[in-house]
Amino acid sequence: MHIAIVGCGQLSRMLALAGLPLGFTFSFIAAPREDTRCVTGLGTTATWQPGQPVGHLYQALGQPDCVTVEKEQVDAGLLTQLQHYCPVLPNPEAVATCGHRWRERQLLVRLGIPCAAHRYDTPASQCVASLSLPLVAKSCRDGYDGKNQWRLDTPEDVASFDRQQLYRDCIIEQRIPFERELSQVSVRSRTGRICHYPLTDNHHENGILVQSVAPAVDVPATIASQAQDMISRIMEALDYVGVMAMECFLVSGELLVNELAPRVHNSGHWTQSGSATSQFENHVRAIAGLELGGTDMHGVCGMLNLIGTQRPPVDLLSASTTLHWYGKTVRPARKLGHVNFRARSHPELVQEIGRFQQSCTRVQPA
Ligand code: ATP
Ligand code: MG
Ligand code: MG
Repeated sequence: MHIAIVGCGQLSRMLALAGLPLGFTFSFIAAPREDTRCVTGLGTTATWQPGQPVGHLYQALGQPDCVTVEKEQVDAGLLTQLQHYCPVLPNPEAVATCGHRWRERQLLVRLGIPCAAHRYDTPASQCVASLSLPLVAKSCRDGYDGKNQWRLDTPEDVASFDRQQLYRDCIIEQRIPFERELSQVSVRSRTGRICHYPLTDNHHENGILVQSVAPAVDVPATIASQAQDMISRIMEALDYVGVMAMECFLVSGELLVNELAPRVHNSGHWTQSGSATSQFENHVRAIAGLELGGTDMHGVCGMLNLIGTQRPPVDLLSASTTLHWYGKTVRPARKLGHVNFRARSHPELVQEIGRFQQSCTRVQPA
């Protein structure tokens, strides 16, 4: 089987690294000027931009049997046109829904899945009447790692936000005083079978995921089964095939869904070390029409993102840590790699992660 992936970042890299041992081959669709270093040596890369014929792209990709994505910001026409040549999984409609925050919220509301109170494309000054400060405004497209988001704390922030007309194609939502951020990573096969990884505890700084721990400690079983039920209903409603992540806030003992990712997700990277089958292999298995691999985990696992740090020397790795360095150009604030940790207990895991973090060297802005 030959699989083409839209995107040339670390997620494409890790999908290919998981699929190559199954005997699958890969090619990658790059946007003009996209940095393709992450996928160097893993397959051919073809560049495409909106308006170009897709038939030629399909040939340049080596006539894939299936196309998938590593990101949700994909030209909708690209995926629907590729569907004339081979299956596109997850389907273009599902990717487009998760690629636009308002469409995604409408799906959640339709399914009765709780999320923060929000308004779409409405001046913030009108939102404050029904939603109270503080608010968070988020552009519906092109947001990741907390980019294209605005914190509105004061009436002055509201006035300045509106003056710049920033509310266009944005959602404005209630700031949630969450206790924890949890994510559910699950996979659905072509035959509709769903497997769930354990809930993961995520810690973000400045909107960027810094570390994850799985399974999330001290989460009531009712919350875990609620998360599984919610993501199952979402995947079924979208007729979804592949891995999906659902990011949630835990607030006053309730889950609120923050966003969906129609792809493998940073909060599932620990599955490379801690699960019978990684999220990457399971995504490949799902889209290829294979039986899903087991999602049960061994021990306690953690993941630390290497953000704007030099590549750590491999002699820092202990017997229970693994390094995934993406081979990107090193820049401050950029996700350059991650480290996975396994431990017998949660306190031991936290200590290991902390120790590793201490020894990382940050790159300084030029
Ligand atoms: P990702 O890289 O996960 O795709 P993103 O840029 O799409 O991120 P969000 O996940 O919506 O953005 O927000 C990033 C982070 O900002 C969240 O993980 C959370 O820590 C914080 N945040 C977002 N929305 C809210 C909110 N309504 N209330 C409080 N904190 C929030
Ligand atoms: Mg997002
Ligand atoms: Mg997020």
